Amino acid sequence: MKRTPITAKLLAPIALKRDRQSDRSGSVRSVAGTAVRGALAFLYLQHHGHADGLFNRLFLNENSCRFGPLDPGPKHFPLTAASCKREGITHALVDQLWYRTAQHYMAGLVEESAESTWRQCEQCSADLKGHDGFWEEKENNNLGEMKNDRQHVAAHVGIDRQTATAAESILYTLESTLPSNEKKDLYGWILADDQALEALKELLKLEDYRISVGHHRTRGYGDIHIQLDKTVEQVDFESRPENWDLWSQRLTGFLSSQPLSVPDINSEHFYFSLSFPTGALFVDKFLRYSLDPAAMLSWLSPMSSIDDAFPIQSRPLHQLSSGGAMQWVTAVTKHEPLRGWNAAHGLPRQDEWSVARGSVYVYCFQGTLEQREVLIQHLKTLSKDGVGLRRNEGFGTVVISDDFHYQFRNQWRSNRD
Ligand SMILES: [Zn+2]
Repeated sequence: MKRTPITAKLLAPIALKRDRQSDRSGSVRSVAGTAVRGALAFLYLQHHGHADGLFNRLFLNENSCRFGPLDPGPKHFPLTAASCKREGITHALVDQLWYRTAQHYMAGLVEESAESTWRQCEQCSADLKGHDGFWEEKENNNLGEMKNDRQHVAAHVGIDRQTATAAESILYTLESTLPSNEKKDLYGWILADDQALEALKELLKLEDYRISVGHHRTRGYGDIHIQLDKTVEQVDFESRPENWDLWSQRLTGFLSSQPLSVPDINSEHFYFSLSFPTGALFVDKFLRYSLDPAAMLSWLSPMSSIDDAFPIQSRPLHQLSSGGAMQWVTAVTKHEPLRGWNAAHGLPRQDEWSVARGSVYVYCFQGTLEQREVLIQHLKTLSKDGVGLRRNEGFGTVVISDDFHYQFRNQWRSNRD
């Protein structure tokens, strides 16, 4: 499959609810891949009348076509990103993953003064707290945050089902996102083989590249114009294997040097991280929801239970059948409820528990270079295929050893010169 970045312009306000509560539900900023896929599948059925082989290829076969979420920015902050509690990233932005890795080795032995850059804003001494949202890369390695200033609340009159006129004393509010003055409002991607991509392009052309997503579409909400950018090979967008080694070396250097000075870090070991920028759905062999990617990847080291986790030296080593051993080091992750609507059945989808967007896991591999090569092949396959359920709705996309954790390992300000 190849990756086609897509952008969207809002033609009308868009209403995306956080959950099914109709009267008091906050809104979210992204259109889920599920909704993008659903909108296109709906158009396909309107034009073709029934689900044929091509329909299956486009919307059911995750090896020929996948739909990512449409987000207000090209990139999502990982769960490890933190910013100044008072002034956000204009004061400070820091990624805490490498610091958390050190914490697992030190287990409470780091001195408070050595930790301040990951805990306190260097400008105003306020605490740092987790930073959510979307960003884009700017020139000179700069980072621009996507503003969240287009939320709008409208009051609507309820419609009486019997008379089809305004219902007496029923008013409700509806939160929505307004179109901006920018050329692009939303950013996403499609992963597709050549045949599926051609079919999607034809379908979109029939509709003038307009699709309709979100709630209250009958009231004029949710019209968006889609633009397909240049298709690229998938690997160009993932972190490259030649950089994974560098990432590992930089992390061991960071751990063993000031101010954290973690003792006994072996720079021969290979550290890597798995990030899930679009979230993921993992189930174990009993189909129970899990936060651990090892539930679905047999070669990956399982996360330790808290009783076995400290000290890290006593943490169980996961022996690989191809030689070498792997240890789970740290993870920043959480469950999120996943809700949806099944338009075909006219019923709510079954609720599921997903791994939140931006979750990150760190592992350490110990073994010879030949043994490591087998692991690298596993990682290459993983970054190409993703992992978990509902991958054709954009879940389970993996970034290996994301450069973000290196770039923002120390405190950074967006207004620096
Ligand atoms: Zn501050």
